Amino acid sequence: MANILKQIIESDKKELQQIDKQATQVEKYADKYAKFSDEELQGQTPIFKQRLADGETLDDILPEAFAVCREGAKRVLGLFPFHVQIMGGIVLHGGNIAEMRTGEGKTLTETMPVYLNALNGKGVHVITVNEYLSERDATEMGELYKWLGLTVGVNKNEKSSPEKRAAYDADITYSTESEIGFDYLRDNMASQRSDQVLQRGLNYALIDEVDSVLIDAARTPLIISGGPGIDSNEKLYHGADSFVKTLDEDVDYELDLESNSAILTDEGIHKGEKYFKLQNLYDIENAALVHHIDQALRANYVLLRDKDYVVKDGDALIVDSFTGRAMPGRRFGDGLHQAIEAKEHVDIQQDSTTMANITYQNLFRMYSKLAGMTGTARSESEEFKSIYNMETISIPTNKPVIRDDKPDILYATLKGKFHAVVEQIKKLYQKGQPVLVGTVAVSSSEHLSDLLDEAQIPHVVLNAKKHAEEAEIVKHAGQKGMVTIATNMAGRGTDIKLGQGVVELGGLAVIGTERHESRRIDDQLRGRSGRQGDPGVSQFYLSLEDDLMVRFGGDRIRRFLRRINLADEDAVLKNRVLTHQVENAQKQVEGNNADARKNVLLYDDVLR
Ligand code: ADP
Ligand code: MG
Repeated sequence: MANILKQIIESDKKELQQIDKQATQVEKYADKYAKFSDEELQGQTPIFKQRLADGETLDDILPEAFAVCREGAKRVLGLFPFHVQIMGGIVLHGGNIAEMRTGEGKTLTETMPVYLNALNGKGVHVITVNEYLSERDATEMGELYKWLGLTVGVNKNEKSSPEKRAAYDADITYSTESEIGFDYLRDNMASQRSDQVLQRGLNYALIDEVDSVLIDAARTPLIISGGPGIDSNEKLYHGADSFVKTLDEDVDYELDLESNSAILTDEGIHKGEKYFKLQNLYDIENAALVHHIDQALRANYVLLRDKDYVVKDGDALIVDSFTGRAMPGRRFGDGLHQAIEAKEHVDIQQDSTTMANITYQNLFRMYSKLAGMTGTARSESEEFKSIYNMETISIPTNKPVIRDDKPDILYATLKGKFHAVVEQIKKLYQKGQPVLVGTVAVSSSEHLSDLLDEAQIPHVVLNAKKHAEEAEIVKHAGQKGMVTIATNMAGRGTDIKLGQGVVELGGLAVIGTERHESRRIDDQLRGRSGRQGDPGVSQFYLSLEDDLMVRFGGDRIRRFLRRINLADEDAVLKNRVLTHQVENAQKQVEGNNADARKNVLLYDDVLR
């Protein structure tokens, strides 16, 4: 308790003190309900419903309803929500964001506001980042809700319309953000109201891993597309592609990595005019060609195969930079996807017409009340406030975090960095201390896996492809001697418990092999270790050749890279300016991404 108070003072929140007081009120009912028989406790649900019908508000009955849910959780799940979890639940009921560290028990936290808000029969949507988690949480927490007399549904992609409608008609519905979004769009296109699945409208949404949903996924709108659109001119794509393949970097075109584009030089323009037998490439009548050339330049010289996109079974698929996963069905716009198809000599597909689209921002703003929880929200609090009108409130941990977050280690080259990473893994592996290695892309996971094979270190690789299987594997990442490599979304939401004897070895060791575009994602990785007061350690290994540094590190880094002595690959760089540059690079990308989301929203607002 003293510890909680200290943390509260540190985070200075008057608000938090208010919430703390309310949580204490909930706790005051504990003894009363503990004495109730099961039947008496279950009998509270209809009583609460009646009180609401008689004019009391949700806020009025909050302390008692939370306390009933808490006592129910103790009996049904064998888990009794901690004080800080009640506090988190109050924040969620208030339509705000509860920032609670990984392992603090957010799933149990959500049961209290979900139970309370389901009592008025308007429906509660609990949103998770994938269907595996929807199913898991609906099943596990569903035991409690059902015991308390409420109904629970899971909305999944594979379900038929009647099944979906039934899931939405339950008191509590678990689903993913994209499935709800698509259902909303399909409902809007349905000709009859009876064909719609979201009959009750959008009341209260509680989003787990809210930063992933409202920040990361929100960069691309949801789109339902119809048949093929305007005829694309295949010849133009191939022509532009063949032309740009004849060009030389820094002579005919220049790369501008910061804006992710390549531009023709005067020399390049000249070559273009000769190649296409034109007087003036920039004549208005050649505008279409110029556009195709621009996209061909990007496709050939800016985007990388196996990083930005993959080619599979004759299709070019975008790779999601946040999950490292290929995204079938999604296409780059504005002819860029076709330019990639020309580059890779696969069939050029026509763009389809868009039948309906919506941004996540506008979808979620339609709910009467919106709340979310995550381990990492603070850095995005302004955006949550301005776009969704949600406050971000950091809840103290149940036990103090004792994880040791070591300072970054910086190498000149990728090779030097990976060498050091493998050496460090080897050391830990020999000691038996489990290691979780985070990578930014599937390609780097695979590269590291090859290196570990060479070093004969047994390990598993997770790429956020098969959620259920990967959750099962990640669960065991805290066992003695385990080495697990994972991209950032792999196994997210799965609890990593420490195996026997691992506490003595220092807990789970987390190694980051690259900074992600967003510091939030780095913090998620660190947070995999040191749960509920467990020991743990985290450290990032970086190099000046990392993607982020090359693109956003600025001239200083580039100059430095040109000067370095490659024989010194394994030397650790201890230059203050350089380490500073890493952070600057991250801040710059975060800014760019925030702008991109603002633009997506503005565009959607204009259309509406
Ligand atoms: P988070 O989503 O915050 O990372 P989880 O909801 O996955 O955390 O919970 C982490 C672990 O903590 C789970 O194993 C869960 O059963 C356990 N847990 C949660 N709340 C409690 C509690 N009040 N008492 C005991 N164990 C709890
Ligand atoms: Mg969770």
